[in-house]
Amino acid sequence: MKFSFVSLFPNLISGYFEDSILSRAIEKGLLEINYVNPRDFSADKWKKVDDTAVGGGAGMVMTPQPLFDTLTSLQEDDVHIIFASPVGKPFNQNDAKRLAKKKHIAFVSGRYEGIDERVIERFADEVYSIGDYILTGGELPSLVMADAISRNIQGVLGNEVSLDEESFEGFLLEAPAFARPPEYEGIKSPSEYMGGNHAKIKALKLSLSECKTKYFRPNELLKHKRRKKYEK
Ligand code: SAM
Repeated sequence: MKFSFVSLFPNLISGYFEDSILSRAIEKGLLEINYVNPRDFSADKWKKVDDTAVGGGAGMVMTPQPLFDTLTSLQEDDVHIIFASPVGKPFNQNDAKRLAKKKHIAFVSGRYEGIDERVIERFADEVYSIGDYILTGGELPSLVMADAISRNIQGVLGNEVSLDEESFEGFLLEAPAFARPPEYEGIKSPSEYMGGNHAKIKALKLSLSECKTKYFRPNELLKHKRRKKYEK
């Protein structure tokens, strides 16, 4: 998988790939990271990339020309272009899994008051939000999506099986996890977890999973129950 980050501030992104699982994925050749700065494509003699909004309004908007030229150059490769925007569809685990099958994804990060809409209309394959709040730029959302996608690329995580039990599989949140030692400062982990009876552990984990989902994501629990009913 190749990720291209289209950003005015690539240094905000690069550090994330210098350590841990994602740096190992790069070493193994499973991930390739590319940075493209729209400022390098600006036709303005001062390399300007923003201007005031047509029709007025506070703040600056990223102008079309640098981004049109940047994204046209990327399209020479077969690239799937994703814009980070608070007005996009909420990004979720199913999107991460589906997008892990792509060969090349470009994430476009907005800055200032955002990106000229004509750029989004012309180039966006998808537009995603990572939550209902406003960040100063699209770099964190792009990294969030790239990280979530990477985990679903075969070979990136050491232990593929662990993906099946993660939160959001089958609309459930993961059951509580406990590290060794089984007792810490007088607080015990559930004795069933220690018994070695895998059927019992599985049943307990499922019911704890359902409790957590009911508390934190009641709508997801409804979807889980509907699916279970449908499967019967
Ligand atoms: N004026 C815009 C609005 O009200 O929708 C917000 C612009 S924001 C300050 C600048 C950039 O940060 C956006 O163009 C987008 O790329 C990114 N961004 C901010 N919050 C985001 C979120 N929740 N999800 C995805 N991208 C976000």
